Amino acid sequence: MGFKLANIDGRAALVSGEDYYDLEKISQGNFSQDPMQALEALSELSALGAQLDNFEASGQLADVELGPPVPNPKNCYAVGLNYRNHAEESNMAMPPVPMVFTKHTSCISGPTADIEMRSDYVDYEAELVAVIGKPGKDIAKEIAWQHVAGLCVGQDISDRPMQFSAAPPQFNLGKSFDTFGPIGPVLTSLESLQDYHSMEIQCDVSGELRQKDNVSDLIFDIPYLIAYLSEIVTLKTGDIIFTGTPAGVGVIDGKYLRDGDMLTTSIEGLGTLRNRCVRIADHSRADIVPEAFSKLLANAREKANAGK
Ligand code: ZN
Repeated sequence: MGFKLANIDGRAALVSGEDYYDLEKISQGNFSQDPMQALEALSELSALGAQLDNFEASGQLADVELGPPVPNPKNCYAVGLNYRNHAEESNMAMPPVPMVFTKHTSCISGPTADIEMRSDYVDYEAELVAVIGKPGKDIAKEIAWQHVAGLCVGQDISDRPMQFSAAPPQFNLGKSFDTFGPIGPVLTSLESLQDYHSMEIQCDVSGELRQKDNVSDLIFDIPYLIAYLSEIVTLKTGDIIFTGTPAGVGVIDGKYLRDGDMLTTSIEGLGTLRNRCVRIADHSRADIVPEAFSKLLANAREKANAGK
């Protein structure tokens, strides 16, 4: 049972090994081509996913470019400082409640999409992403997994000057430039995963390993986040939760993404994102160093000097 849902040219497809199967075609029209609609009938999707051997594959993944498996979420939540080692490296106290912000859904992009950068301080954050299946309000922690359609890999790309430019800092815009939310490569249902409580997560920049951890180190786990959020907002089918990033981000030692870098982000069992970084322009605050950000720059310089 279980499924891996992909977006191929805007059409929903199920994946098995290296092959994909157009969902509208194999379901004989019971599902539409829209990947968002597929999330509304998860048990039917799982049942189809279990019998892919009975169908002829529509093609091979190697021959197509994947789009984001959840292309049009209603909301996209994200959590800051949700790994102990990342809170420590940022010199921040352990958060008493999840530090939640939003990424505007227009930033969501595909697993091999270019990241379009508009300053010299654009940073990566490898993250486990949960996608809501069954909608709900006031969802108890104990049953929260039942509301998860599946998991995928995400990058919470962040323009640090913009993230810290308001006082007090307001993260939404700095993390919502177009292309700043690659997700994928596919949406993997929980039944398809051996142990979704413990999966290695890692990120490298042009071949240099920068982040490596296990999602079991999350301070606030997915059931906690779902319970916490759903007390405030009704979680809808297709809503996305970026769950936070482990230690090793560029802002700590001053190693930001450069034009031409290849950003590779993997989670065990979920697959790999491969995003090329392209410096396309300067935004209007690209050279302005906000006060909250200048402290981070100074810390990075200190750290670099100490390492010499
Ligand atoms: Zn993040």
